[in-house]
Amino acid sequence: MLRKPVARIDLTALQHNLRQVRQLAPESKVLAVLKANAYGHGMLKVAEQLQQADAFGVARLDEALSLRAGGVVKPIVLLEGFFDADELPQIVASNLQVVVHQQEQVDAIVAAELDAPIRVWLKMDTGMHRLGLMPEHYQTAYQRLSQSPNCLPAFRLMSHFACADDRQSPDTQAQLQCFYHHSQGLAGEVSLANSAGVLAWPESHQQWVRPGIMLYGVSPMLQQQAMPIELKPVMTLCSRVIAVRSIAAGETVGYGSAWQTPQATRLAVVAIGYGDGYPRNVPNGTPVLVHGKRYPIVGRVSMDMLTIDIGTDAVQSGDEVVLWGQGLPVAEIAAKVGTIPYELLCNITPRVDFHYNSSAL
Ligand SMILES: *Cc1c(COP(=O)(O)O)cnc(C)c1O
Repeated sequence: MLRKPVARIDLTALQHNLRQVRQLAPESKVLAVLKANAYGHGMLKVAEQLQQADAFGVARLDEALSLRAGGVVKPIVLLEGFFDADELPQIVASNLQVVVHQQEQVDAIVAAELDAPIRVWLKMDTGMHRLGLMPEHYQTAYQRLSQSPNCLPAFRLMSHFACADDRQSPDTQAQLQCFYHHSQGLAGEVSLANSAGVLAWPESHQQWVRPGIMLYGVSPMLQQQAMPIELKPVMTLCSRVIAVRSIAAGETVGYGSAWQTPQATRLAVVAIGYGDGYPRNVPNGTPVLVHGKRYPIVGRVSMDMLTIDIGTDAVQSGDEVVLWGQGLPVAEIAAKVGTIPYELLCNITPRVDFHYNSSAL
């Protein structure tokens, strides 16, 4: 038995979560977002498992090319588009679709000489102010591109929400209104919803939804409201106990002696640390699971190890410890360190083994 961290990836949970997307947005096609190595889950494995998706979305050209090199034939959309006209022949050759979000890209497409026309997702900035054409320039860009032989007819029209994870925020309605107002009269399938849009804003579903985090079994919502569907965590991060020891009252534990035993107790040392991507700054008391029971982390997380207080319980060297996933939502750990589950999932380092299991549960 290797006493090192393992990320168990439950591939059936991935399919389950995709079915939940379909249930919430039955009229929409699904662009499954696989950027950042499928949120740390392994891009190719995830792509192979999501045969039922209608398209895949990635952030960057190299991500799309590695999907193609891995044998993926489904439509792939470059969510950041391209940055240099040099990339266009490769995009055509690999049959990739592009998000066009700024004027330079419009100019480059119009000026290019391409072997075949490309599929354009024309993005409007409706308030996020990250990527997207200004609303007042949207119609002109559309007209210019539609006259270019380099674009396939039938564009996709898209935008991205800033605050869809907050059901209370008025921003999403404002963004929807901006989008419909400035895209009036333009033909094309519409795509607006990320996971939060899928979960909380049915009016945003339209022809294409773009879920990421929810496919991995994690809700992006700020208010963990009652959901009509159930998501199953895809990644369970575990490791094993490598030592168990007794400590007297008043002793301190770990670097900086940041925790002191209030009474005599027993500690289990777990083989995972920030060198594996577990956050170093978790506070004392952050939970882990052993045999399904919660135990608190005590003292600072080291590079390769952390310690938990097991009291008098029968936890032994070799026992499995769950850091997040099944039975312990990653969102709970993220909240402890003031971040979002996306970041924790993406931060797993290559030192962690990945075990893909399609028969779990
Ligand atoms: C990352 C991304 C998504 C997916 O967002 P989630 O919150 O993970 O669902 C959708 N659309 C675009 C443009 C993105 O960059």
